[in-house]
Amino acid sequence: MTVSLLGAAEIRRLAAELDVTPTKKLGQNFVVDANTVRKIVQAADVQPGERVVEIGPGLGSLTLAILEAGASVTAVEIDHRLAAHLPETARAHGAAEEALTVVDADALRVTELPGDPTILVANLPYNVSVPVLLHFLETFPGIRRGVVMVQAEVAERLAAAPGSKIYGAPSVKAAWYGPWRLCGTVSRQVFWPVPNVDSLLVGFVRAPEPRGSEDERRRTFAVVDAAFNQRRKMLRQALSGVFGSAAAASEVLERAGVAPTSRGEALTVDDYHRIALAGVQG
Ligand code: SAM
Repeated sequence: MTVSLLGAAEIRRLAAELDVTPTKKLGQNFVVDANTVRKIVQAADVQPGERVVEIGPGLGSLTLAILEAGASVTAVEIDHRLAAHLPETARAHGAAEEALTVVDADALRVTELPGDPTILVANLPYNVSVPVLLHFLETFPGIRRGVVMVQAEVAERLAAAPGSKIYGAPSVKAAWYGPWRLCGTVSRQVFWPVPNVDSLLVGFVRAPEPRGSEDERRRTFAVVDAAFNQRRKMLRQALSGVFGSAAAASEVLERAGVAPTSRGEALTVDDYHRIALAGVQG
């Protein structure tokens, strides 16, 4: 069975029928262009039979493009009206009933995902894009790769290398799970309503083995947060709260092979991990 995609007029009609006025609070900017949703699915290299999780399916434009590629979709949507109507939209557009599972929930609170998806594909709500991504990477190790559309600045930050101006805590935390790359631009004209920011596609591939235990990850992220909360300070100062004093922080940094006078924005995720490990060796 072939799946057909949603057109711009149908999206507006559906929204009116469901009494949905897109809200900023939920980042509801719906994609109304079939080429764009196909481009996202191609960037994610979704193949027939693969299992995809989509965060925030909205009215279903990207969902249908994933289904069109022959994959199954677990879709997590916080807006009850949209979550309730998605199976009907999929059915009306030729998708097999068993290919779609809808989870009517806040993605930030989801701890179980039916269907064991291995790929994450989403046009993420702007206001929660980084917390949602980190929550999914942390909670669902079965997700091996993904492509998401986010605000351009956020995408650049996620893929940033140490030393660049935009390198920050999200860059290091994202890199904990594997490498990220920018993989396409999206015109703001393909959204309804048109947002006042540009968007980019950014993709990740999870490293074959976890970088460290859950305890190591937690400790590393605490060091990262402290380093970037005071990014203009030397590390021995910025990390004094985490390790008790500037002198103790200096010792930890030296044990980790990191100069106590360096600044957080110069360090790689490996450096941060070594600092966290050195902090418990004491
Ligand atoms: N995927 C659709 C598209 O491309 O047209 C909609 C994308 S829209 C940018 C973001 C979607 O995420 C909306 O449907 C919104 O209701 C949903 N959303 C917002 N916050 C959410 C959350 N915390 N958990 C799950 N869905 C959320």
